[in-house]
Amino acid sequence: MKPAIWLDGSLCDADSARVSAFDHGLTVGDGVFETVKATEGRAFALTRHLRRLARSAEGLGLPAPDPDEVRRGCEEVLKANPVPFGRLRITYTGGFSPLGSDRGTAGPTLVVALVEAARPADSTAVVTVPWARNERGALAGLKTTSYGENVVALARARQQDATEALFGNTVGALCEGTGSNVFVVLDGELHTPPLSSGCLAGITRALVLEWVGAKETDLPLEALGRAEEVFLTSTTRDVQAVHRVDARTLPGAPGPVTAEARRIFVERAAADIDP
Ligand code: PLP
Repeated sequence: MKPAIWLDGSLCDADSARVSAFDHGLTVGDGVFETVKATEGRAFALTRHLRRLARSAEGLGLPAPDPDEVRRGCEEVLKANPVPFGRLRITYTGGFSPLGSDRGTAGPTLVVALVEAARPADSTAVVTVPWARNERGALAGLKTTSYGENVVALARARQQDATEALFGNTVGALCEGTGSNVFVVLDGELHTPPLSSGCLAGITRALVLEWVGAKETDLPLEALGRAEEVFLTSTTRDVQAVHRVDARTLPGAPGPVTAEARRIFVERAAADIDP
C-alpha cells in the first residue's frame, strides 16, 4: 500500500502529493511542526501537541492552524496507514511565496504524514557541542522548521557514536538536546533546565514534571560531568537513560531514579492516550 498523507484538506497519495517549490517553509524555514507518537493507530497527547503547534505558529506570526482540521488530518492519516508504531509529522508553513523572503498571501500549507518507527532504545550516548542555544533569540522555545543548527549538532554526535547532542545556552547553562530535553540527578535529586534556559517546552518533559516531579534548575553545562544519572525525554525517546556523556561513561545506566521515572511514565502513558 502506498503511504497516504494529508495535504491542505484532503488525503492524497504521498508519491504524487505536491507542495510548491516556492513554499516559504521549504525556501526559508518559515514553518512549524510537531512529531506525535502513534501507537496502534492512536495519537498520544494530541491535545498538547495541537496547543504547542498553535503557540509556535503564533510565535512565528503564522495564522492560527485550525485544530479541528489538524486533528482530522491526523485521524485520516492514521486510518489510511495502519502501522503498529510510528510518528505523525505535522508540518504547517507560511505557504506559497514567490517573492523571496516575504511571506505570500496564498495562506499556509498543512501536511500530516506518518512514518513507521522503531521503539526507542533503553539507553544511549550523548555529546556536548560548543555551539550555544540562544535563549534570547526570536525562535527560542518555538518548534520551527528552522532546524539547521540541530542538524549540524546531530551530525557531530553521530561522528562520536552518539545519538544526541546537548547544547548549553549563551550563559553556559545546560539547555537541551537537538530533539530532546535533558534531566540530571545530582546528590540524589532530579533536575531539569527551566524553560528560561531556552529549551523547548517538551511534552514528555512536562509529563515527567507532572507525574514524577523534578526541580527546574539552572545548571552549568559542566553539571553533566558530575551527574549521578542523566536521561533524555522526547516523543521519540520517551524516558531514555544516558550511558555516556562525551568521554564519561555512566555505569549502570539506567540508574534507580531514571528507571523509576521511566516506569511511572510508561505506566501513566499507557493509561491515558491524551493526558
Ligand atoms: N527539544 C527540542 C529542540 C525538540 O525538537 C524536541 C522534540 O522534538 C524536544 C525538546 C522534546 O519535546 P517532546 O517531548 O514534545 O517531543
